[in-house]
Amino acid sequence: MTRIPGVYLSRSIDLEAIFGETFARLAPDLDLRAPDRIEDPGAVRFAVCWEPADDAFLPYPALGMVASIAAGIDGIVAASSLPDVPVTRVRDPEQAKIMAGHVVWNVLWWHRRFRERLAHQAARRWERLSHHAPSTVTVGILGFGLMGRASAEALLALGFRVIGWARTTSGAIDGVRLETGAEGLERVVGEADFLVNLLPLTAQTRGLLSADLFARMPQGAVLIQVGRGAHLDEAALLAALETGPIGGASLDVFAVEPLPSDHPFWTHPKVLVTSHDAAEAGFETIVGSIAEDARRLVAGLPLLGAVPRDRGY
Ligand code: NDP
Repeated sequence: MTRIPGVYLSRSIDLEAIFGETFARLAPDLDLRAPDRIEDPGAVRFAVCWEPADDAFLPYPALGMVASIAAGIDGIVAASSLPDVPVTRVRDPEQAKIMAGHVVWNVLWWHRRFRERLAHQAARRWERLSHHAPSTVTVGILGFGLMGRASAEALLALGFRVIGWARTTSGAIDGVRLETGAEGLERVVGEADFLVNLLPLTAQTRGLLSADLFARMPQGAVLIQVGRGAHLDEAALLAALETGPIGGASLDVFAVEPLPSDHPFWTHPKVLVTSHDAAEAGFETIVGSIAEDARRLVAGLPLLGAVPRDRGY
């Protein structure tokens, strides 16, 4: 059997250590290696990537497919050496359920005043805390794709009022007012007691969570940031937490990851930090979908996970 040669490319994590066993088990027809173990770079047909170095693709002239191990491709299209070949992403409905859990947990963290409860328990203080009925609380979701819709459905099941914002209304679901365009964004942001960012990072969405956007949010609103670090102006968020209107923020993604140990978010009383682990795709789903597309590549078939490059997500 001639195996399909592929390469792992990442400047930040050891993809072979993470995925090697699963690829070997589920896709023995692929010969995937780290760059230092590639004998013939000219034969490599596909790359498996997370944050590849800027020049990572240069040694591989026969690449026909570049696969992201994640939902986003922003870290791949940022590399200037990326050749003009299909870039694929993972779409995992199970991951969307995990993301919904993260979003619900973080909405409830603030809505049900968990930080105060932890302080009360530490002080052995019995105190009943009030909270508004979910039907009076609006959650705005920016980005209404696989992750956004699953989060909306979970919030609707708990009785929250949910509104969304997307590029088109193609992802609309019952019970959610889905807005588009600049005016739609303004309406969603202006009504959201909780604003959840689940946008992909593209030229259009970079820097969207800005001082201007925060100024339009209701007093005391909470930001739940799970998209990408480059969506957020971190200094503007710190200012909006200080002087209003933002009352709290749950942050999972950052401009610099890992979040530097001296970053003010770590100790901020109104910030909950998680380590870019809101929702990972399942290993078997990642490996299965990449392997299927690698086989389709050599068979000359269209790739199932290909992302339209002009759209960027
Ligand atoms: P999808 O491609 O399924 O959905 C993207 C959504 O964003 C769509 O609703 C799309 O609109 C909308 N959108 C894209 N561009 C714009 C724009 N310019 N203006 C308005 N809306 C826009 O992606 P997923 O739901 O699978 O993932 C979304 C993002 O979530 C990922 O790209 C990643 O950044 C982040 N993520 C973070 C994780 C974490 O652990 N922190 C884990 C997984 C994902 P339309 O419906 O019209 O196409």
